[in-house]
Amino acid sequence: MTQASKTASVEQSTKAGRAAVVEKPGGPLQFTSRDYRITNSRDVRIKIKACGICHSDSFAFTGHFPGLKYPIIPGHEIVGTVDEVGSEVRRLSVGDRVGVGWHAGHCHECGACRSGDFIACDKLQTPGITRDGGYAEYGIFPEEVCAIVPEKLEFSEAAPLLCAGITTYNALRHAGALPGDTVAVLGLGGLGHLGVQFAAKMGYRTVAIARGSDKAEFAGQLGAHVYIDSQKSTAVDELNKIGGAKVLLSTITSADAMTPWVEALSLNGKMVVVGADVQPLRISPIALISRRRTVTGWPSGTAKDSEDCLNFAARHGIRAMVETYPLAKAEDAYNRMMSGKARFRVVVEP
Ligand SMILES: [Zn+2]
Ligand SMILES: [Zn+2]
Repeated sequence: MTQASKTASVEQSTKAGRAAVVEKPGGPLQFTSRDYRITNSRDVRIKIKACGICHSDSFAFTGHFPGLKYPIIPGHEIVGTVDEVGSEVRRLSVGDRVGVGWHAGHCHECGACRSGDFIACDKLQTPGITRDGGYAEYGIFPEEVCAIVPEKLEFSEAAPLLCAGITTYNALRHAGALPGDTVAVLGLGGLGHLGVQFAAKMGYRTVAIARGSDKAEFAGQLGAHVYIDSQKSTAVDELNKIGGAKVLLSTITSADAMTPWVEALSLNGKMVVVGADVQPLRISPIALISRRRTVTGWPSGTAKDSEDCLNFAARHGIRAMVETYPLAKAEDAYNRMMSGKARFRVVVEP
């Protein structure tokens, strides 16, 4: 047995809390009461204050994700306060403000884990997929997957940073652009409105690309230096006219809509895809060869990455724009997010 699987001492308390559960694929969200008791000495119990709703929460409802276990409580943008700690927890104390995102545990044994690349673990634990998530009053998670949430951030603002935020922030900071390089963010939704803010504060010449001319002013408020309306037939040319993008972060979920933008990458430019689509990207090999372009993806990050993201956001005034719902209205909140009518991010507050 590894150290992490030691059981907790017997003094741990039990707390009952309400949770919204999906019982089976295609099933509705149903409310139930759960008992929360720490049984692993390295775990903490979190009193959940807010949980963001991500498009990936739909996996819990559809069942279309490998390793999904039912019944399941959805939600992987979880923030709250530490309510109780296991006997071997050292870093966290009761009352600490913490968050848990897509990464909620790893196996320590696969090739990725042995390389220290825990977010790429073959047996990655994810709230709302392989273990219960944040549409609940409480949650129990390993100490090592908890990120400290700075005081400057409200819980509801911090929640979306645990997935939408960390994914765009981590993708951008690892994409290889230098300060002053042109970085384009495709899409101005839940991920994109954060991506533009991060790119601008990271010191890039930031280009926001979205549908319609009416979003130009808003893009400017987020820090974009250039706005391109993707509905114009000349949109790709507009980006090329200013030298093309060293990095283009694609936050949209349509493979067809991202494809033309490969042609707007500069020499050695890179498209980083963080918006998930199951459809193929149809890219001309010639577009890649002549300008030595690459297309790649980026998966979220670990708790330390989330902490870096949260601190960066707090320090630079970067904020997620959210609509909040009480936990009792979790189904309405989920439907609102999936309808596409919510402009940015929907958050449930237990
Ligand atoms: Zn997510
Ligand atoms: Zn692993």
